[in-house]
Amino acid sequence: MSGEAKLKVATVSLAGCFGCHMSLLDMDERLIDLLEHVEFERSPLTDIKRVGRCDIGLIEGGVCNAENVQVLREFRRCCHTLVALGACAVNGGLPAQRNHLDVGQCLQAVYLSRQGLAGGRVPDDPELPLPLDKVHPVHEVVRIDYFLPGCPPSGELIFTFLSDLIRGRSPRLGHPALRYD
Ligand code: SF4
Repeated sequence: MSGEAKLKVATVSLAGCFGCHMSLLDMDERLIDLLEHVEFERSPLTDIKRVGRCDIGLIEGGVCNAENVQVLREFRRCCHTLVALGACAVNGGLPAQRNHLDVGQCLQAVYLSRQGLAGGRVPDDPELPLPLDKVHPVHEVVRIDYFLPGCPPSGELIFTFLSDLIRGRSPRLGHPALRYD
């Protein structure tokens, strides 16, 4: 494919731990193969803050606050193909474990009544994104084209998946790849 225009790929972590991004880097030297065919747009690898027109958007993490909703909608507008990368994006994952708790009570427990705290207050700076009542998987907010489960999906799986997309093939996830850990 050398000489062909490179596909633009953007990535973001919403309510995630960056473990899925680490898995992307885990493909080791195959990352160099990948970079022959793609260039990264907005992503933690480039530190570009706003997403522009892209071929593929990889979304790590669930949707836990108003800023996540805004960023996710921006990715949907800008990316031709949008991918939920990892368990948190696919089904809310670890961050969604707070969904059975009241968000107000969570904030009070963390900032006011935690052992060892004195004179704490719940942060209310208007710059801080407003937490949502629940953490949502990304498909509850925007249309998602592909789901890559796993916590995290392996570097090999991400490489195979992206290679299929680059070559214009519909990625097929075999049974072992569909892990919901
Ligand atoms: Fe981290 Fe796992 Fe969530 Fe990926 S799926 S962001 S590795 S907790």
